[in-house]
Amino acid sequence: MTSTDVPDIRIPADLLPADGRFGSGPSKVRPEAVAALAEVSATWMGTSHRQRPVKAVVASVRRGLAELLHLPEGYEVLLGNGGATVFWDAATFGLISARSQHLAFGEFSSKFAAAVAGAPHLDPPDVIESAAGTHPEARPTEGVDLYAFTHNETSTGVAMALARPEGVAAEEALVAVDATSAAGALLFDPSEVDVYYLAPQKALASDGGLWLAACSPAAIERIERIRSSSRWCPPSLDLGIALDNSRADQTYNTPALATLFLLDQQLRWLNDNGGLEWAAARCAKSASVLYGWAEDSEHAAPFVADPAKRSSVVGTIDLAASVDAGTVSAVLRANGIVDTDAYRKLGRNQVRIGTFPAVDPDDVAALCESVDFVVAALAV
Ligand SMILES: *Cc1c(COP(=O)(O)O)cnc(C)c1O
Repeated sequence: MTSTDVPDIRIPADLLPADGRFGSGPSKVRPEAVAALAEVSATWMGTSHRQRPVKAVVASVRRGLAELLHLPEGYEVLLGNGGATVFWDAATFGLISARSQHLAFGEFSSKFAAAVAGAPHLDPPDVIESAAGTHPEARPTEGVDLYAFTHNETSTGVAMALARPEGVAAEEALVAVDATSAAGALLFDPSEVDVYYLAPQKALASDGGLWLAACSPAAIERIERIRSSSRWCPPSLDLGIALDNSRADQTYNTPALATLFLLDQQLRWLNDNGGLEWAAARCAKSASVLYGWAEDSEHAAPFVADPAKRSSVVGTIDLAASVDAGTVSAVLRANGIVDTDAYRKLGRNQVRIGTFPAVDPDDVAALCESVDFVVAALAV
């Protein structure tokens, strides 16, 4: 829709949310974090990432994430450049011994499976799919040495509970979880997971370009074993090199300093306010506002049928056929409420709402009222 096609509907100011950012990633960055960055900009931006000030923030990020996720003794936080997508490639080289199993239930979980499927040094992956709006269950399988889960499938708004496959010990197979849109917002038991990896531009309210991975002792051992094997790996994707650099509170090559700073700000904010339990409760509150509104509405309904699988950080809401969701999102955008668009490839008449910890639950309520206003105005 070009801007001239957007119906001229003005949402009254008293209905509008205070902050109009509801994207599912990149998502709202708290203004306080940006102000803190502006304050230190002259002594932070444009300074060396090999010197103490930047290394101290990397150390704080590694510590802060371990605290937030309640990582058990022996778990280590690794980081490197390139985001979650690059971590899939790094895992393809340095984490999977021979064969992985993937639960594919949306765009992101499918992409990791596709990256592995193309690797000539690995056996074809075991890919278990399910319809959009649901998630499959893992199948304990002989010969699989890594199970790939996605805590929150951002494209469909489905969240899954994390547990090791029945009867499979960490020594036998690793559990690697894409937590890009979940980390810092959804509860889980870290002892059920060996690699909990993420990019920080979603639930952690920073900017893109970085990956972080909380790794169990079994995962560290796997990384060490593969690095000492004869398998070739490009250095920038080498998890062994990432491990050495992370232990020295640095990245192999130059990171985005603003991303690191904003991430540290968000981790401190979360930990100071009550940690993961507090963040999860705040997101659950936003989600109950959103899904409650959709269930009561005549023109909206939650897309994910099973309430237990509905994400509390990415809400996918179908709109009635009489209402064009693309037009609704375009009108919202013209009123300063941005990025409510459905995931394109899902192809549904839907809005998708990011309700990450940085988003105020009151703003979610205001968003619902704004949608009602737009739908009513479009019907006239
Ligand atoms: C956004 C997202 C990714 C991709 O992250 P990039 O930083 O763009 O590579 C991967 N997985 C999930 C679940 C995501 O939400």
